[in-house]
Amino acid sequence: MRVVFASAEVSPIAKTGGLGDVCGSLPKALQKLGHDVVVFMPFYRQARQWFEKSGAPLHPLMPTQVIAWANWIAEATYLRASLPGTDIPIVFVANDFFFERDQIYSDAPDGWHDYLLRYTFFCRAVIRACELLDIRPDVLHCHDWHTALLPLYLDSGLRSVPQFQRAKSVFTIHNLNYQGIAGPGAFALTGLHQRYWAPDALEHYGTLNPMKGAILLANQVTTVSPNYGREIMTPQLGAGLDGVLRSINYKFLGILNGIDADEWNPLTDPHLPVNYDETMLREKTRVKRALLKEADLKFSQKTPVIGAVSRLVGQKGFQLLLPVFDRLIAAGAQLLILGSGEPDLENALAYLGERFRDRAKVWLGFDNALAHRIYGGADMLLMPSIYEPCGLNQMYALRYGTIPIVRLTGGLADTVIPYDGTNLDVANGFGFVAADPRELQLASWLAMLNFKDGATWKTLQTHGMEQDFSWERSARQYDEVYRR
Ligand code: ADP
Repeated sequence: MRVVFASAEVSPIAKTGGLGDVCGSLPKALQKLGHDVVVFMPFYRQARQWFEKSGAPLHPLMPTQVIAWANWIAEATYLRASLPGTDIPIVFVANDFFFERDQIYSDAPDGWHDYLLRYTFFCRAVIRACELLDIRPDVLHCHDWHTALLPLYLDSGLRSVPQFQRAKSVFTIHNLNYQGIAGPGAFALTGLHQRYWAPDALEHYGTLNPMKGAILLANQVTTVSPNYGREIMTPQLGAGLDGVLRSINYKFLGILNGIDADEWNPLTDPHLPVNYDETMLREKTRVKRALLKEADLKFSQKTPVIGAVSRLVGQKGFQLLLPVFDRLIAAGAQLLILGSGEPDLENALAYLGERFRDRAKVWLGFDNALAHRIYGGADMLLMPSIYEPCGLNQMYALRYGTIPIVRLTGGLADTVIPYDGTNLDVANGFGFVAADPRELQLASWLAMLNFKDGATWKTLQTHGMEQDFSWERSARQYDEVYRR
């Protein structure tokens, strides 16, 4: 099938999180299944810098086009490259006013929150490019709210355009909490018929909600793990759209993300001082030793090292760690934390790192190579998420023989099987349910107790390292959704 991907992020060109990882990896796995994929993304400053740095070829596709919709016109320059390491075409939509900004999601230079306008422009530019380049998608695969208007445009008469006659839409929810909500006045900006300003389309309690519109009008809807799919149909985690999601249960499926098995492989990882796999776990100790040296902490094989790599935002749950930080240390752990995000959390963790300088290290910032070394060198990885659509860190940790300690929510519950003393034949980690610091402390303590038992620990490690988190498995499920 001919599949058109439209996404606000594509790794490694420009990403802030899991959305970029998926849109950078899934097309490769779909191509292996015989699909003909074209990827569209905005040409951000970050993308331009990526090409300048990598030297990868980038070509203009055609003269700059004028995109006209509703009361707007704006110019789009189309650039073409290949998804790195593949021959999959990626088409960039360039417009300096919209995309040449400090951050991927920065506001306009004059401070205007023009997020809806810039992604509406992007959607219109994707449609125009398909017309001009005669790309005839069987499937228009849209990701998160930024591209949520595409299924609505398809529904609203676009199928009379020859290029879109056969097109069906698939909408994937990577994070339900970002919905692209705007005031009712913004509806005019979409250029859609008044019929779409209705509770069974874009209107949601008087606001404009692109995410809702796509959920209702896409032909198929998916999210990034089966458990998150169930959770967001409940009022607790439905972010106001649980009822909408329940109403489309018949076309809704959770598909677990994969990981890039080449980038995240302890046997070949260039960021590790020593490489290893499940048959030579002793080498992992050398990675731990080097990591502790880097953290300026004392190494002892018997001391459990709990690591964490995360955005420091409320979603990730590190507020649960703060009240029990000292107790984990008193119980015998060393803590190594790498993260960046909200100043309150950053400051609190930095303070604790300083206060327990002989047992803990907190790095504030974003450092991919250090992240690799933490996955490799720590004994355990903490993920106390409040909600987690899929989560990649726990999969990286499992692959590196680092035992995850997680709050059992979203994709974490799909990938981590907590050890409870009776299930050593399948367990691969530790977990807790209540979003309560004492629960976090208890689960970590349980992990530390089992760490002392070499044979049990090795079994847990081996289970994680042997698990299949490849994209092939997920791509087969997307293939089924496309066929549906
Ligand atoms: P999310 O997309 O919600 O941030 P995921 O677990 O799906 O969470 O993906 C997070 C990705 O970002 C992982 O690849 C993780 O290693 C990386 N990451 C997060 N914070 C940092 C950091 N401070 N330094 C390096 N890598 C980070």
